[in-house]
Amino acid sequence: MARYTGPVCKLCRREGMKLFLKGSRCVGEKCAFERRSYPPGERGRGRIKASEYSKQLREKQKIKRTYGLLEKQFRGYYKKAAKQKGITGENLLRLLEIRFDDIIYRAGFAFSRPEARQLVRHGHFTINGRKVNIPSYRLKEGDVFGLAPKGNAKARVQESLSYTAKGEVPEWLDVDPKTMTGKVRELPDREQISMPFDEQLVVELYSK
Ligand code: SF4
Repeated sequence: MARYTGPVCKLCRREGMKLFLKGSRCVGEKCAFERRSYPPGERGRGRIKASEYSKQLREKQKIKRTYGLLEKQFRGYYKKAAKQKGITGENLLRLLEIRFDDIIYRAGFAFSRPEARQLVRHGHFTINGRKVNIPSYRLKEGDVFGLAPKGNAKARVQESLSYTAKGEVPEWLDVDPKTMTGKVRELPDREQISMPFDEQLVVELYSK
């Protein structure tokens, strides 16, 4: 699956927020956004009044980049969200949150979403006892996930878990750090998705 391979810190600076794409570096002094929180490029330092369109575009880019998706993939999620019952923006975020790689990151098994994606791709995790190496796999309520018994990712996952504070795991997931397993207690609603996005702007952008 194609993915963005350029400098990721630039993405945070461009979007004006930390997207946490580099694992432990993101919480340290080396974080590029902490040092230079203005957009990259010469014009980054100036203030340009944003049009409605550019606000919508930026919000879409912010969400898309946080979850590490390309335009086509992101649009696919939007189409699926629009077909579901309920509020499209909320559906969209829920669909992104229940991706396997996102859940591995949320559970604290990886320092970042890109790392979680790599671990999933390399077959280090199971869902309901079966190895699944598809990062976009969508989990359902009641699904149990965990570290595959055979493999060499245990130390890496353990290290990540040791950095994850208890309160950081979302309430819609049950995680047992000792057994390195977790369960989807319920599918999250908007209040349980602690992302500072204005997803309605994306709906407005794609509804044009
Ligand atoms: Fe973003 Fe992390 Fe880079 Fe900081 S270190 S700019 S949060 S990717």
